[in-house]
Amino acid sequence: MRIRFSPLAVLAISLPLAAQAPANLADTVKQQLPALTETYKQLHRSPELSRYEEQTSAFLAGELRKLGYTVNEHVGKYEDGAQAFGVVAVLVNGAGPRVLIRTDMDALPVDEKTGVDYASTVKTKDAQGQQVSVMHACGHDLHMTVLLGTARELAARKSQWHGTVVLIGQPAEEVVQGAAAMLADHLYERFGRPDYILAEHDTNDVVAGSIAIKGGPLMASATTLNVTMRGIGGHGSRPEAGKDPIVLAAEFVLVAQTIVSRQVDPQQPAVLTVGTIHGGTKNNIIPDEVTMGLTLRTYSTTVRDRIVEDVRRTAKGLAVAYGIPEDLMPIVSLTEGAPVTYNNPALAERVRAAAVKALGASRVDEAKSVMGSEDVGIFTLDGKIPGVMYWLGAADRAKFEESQKTGVPLPSFHSALFAPVYSEAIPAGVTAMTAMALDLLK
Ligand SMILES: [Zn+2]
Ligand SMILES: [Zn+2]
Repeated sequence: MRIRFSPLAVLAISLPLAAQAPANLADTVKQQLPALTETYKQLHRSPELSRYEEQTSAFLAGELRKLGYTVNEHVGKYEDGAQAFGVVAVLVNGAGPRVLIRTDMDALPVDEKTGVDYASTVKTKDAQGQQVSVMHACGHDLHMTVLLGTARELAARKSQWHGTVVLIGQPAEEVVQGAAAMLADHLYERFGRPDYILAEHDTNDVVAGSIAIKGGPLMASATTLNVTMRGIGGHGSRPEAGKDPIVLAAEFVLVAQTIVSRQVDPQQPAVLTVGTIHGGTKNNIIPDEVTMGLTLRTYSTTVRDRIVEDVRRTAKGLAVAYGIPEDLMPIVSLTEGAPVTYNNPALAERVRAAAVKALGASRVDEAKSVMGSEDVGIFTLDGKIPGVMYWLGAADRAKFEESQKTGVPLPSFHSALFAPVYSEAIPAGVTAMTAMALDLLK
């Protein structure tokens, strides 16, 4: 995979030395903004797909090294044995807590249509060999920029904190593989188990310049289910001689819609979507099987397990009703995807207070939960380590207010039109993240 990635001009920013009285956070973040803007645009022009973050990770590592961090590259092992492009940057500053701050690094196969002058024109081949356009349509370029700004503030403010900062550049978030790959490569054994985890995600649901935060579930768990309906194939003119899996699958798709609406507690958010259905080769042939791909989103493991059981029972029950032979019962398999992104309530309150002090109460909103998913929760080891992910506002204020009025949503992340208002989002992100980290490292 070959992409253009020109090295950035050296960031020429003067910041107060640690020995001097540290300047006001708002002022130093403002000083950083021109260089961070260049960084953001450069990253935006040079997106790389999940698992291919070679240039991006090298750039991030290089910048963190310049700031005085001890940097390790190629941290992470995928399940298939491939090496990941994870970055781990450590800054030790005496005894104290260990705070992990995570950014993701990967982009998406999206053809950018924002029309901005720093838009991506990158094209590459994906893992299947298909030519695709690539875009930072999820704003991971913004997350990296905020991480670099935060890294610089923390390095310049060593007199204000004690402990260890561990900055993570995570690959392959979009395919929910990167966090697991880094843990599988003994992340915590090698770099220490953190006491706190912080991360942000940009969104057009919040105005740029603000953040939004809450305790409890922020994003749903994602579970992938595959259901194969098996039948007995034959000539399309003689259905009585076989067992038609197409009709069986069609009924399954409809009955599956009643699982969430009729069998799950309405107080418990859940989504079950049949996203793919494949079967058959020719109009007059009854196939032997139909395969379906489903995604399941919930905020609770109990609800998730219950729905998986409902899917199994529904598939089997319908097959029995259709008279499918015992040895051709449906096959239901599942792949664990992302866990729930659960914000530790006490930690969320603590970092919210720090953000309010730094940004002002009017720029710290109450977060809304979504049914989308993230793999950042994997770093918390099932919630054993307190972690918080907050929303970083990306929306233009006028467009946001217009959309509130009309009810027409703004382009969300993953849209070819997603264009965060970086001039507001970058300083808000760096200010919030630095203030939160400083508070945890007091
Ligand atoms: Zn995404
Ligand atoms: Zn994302």
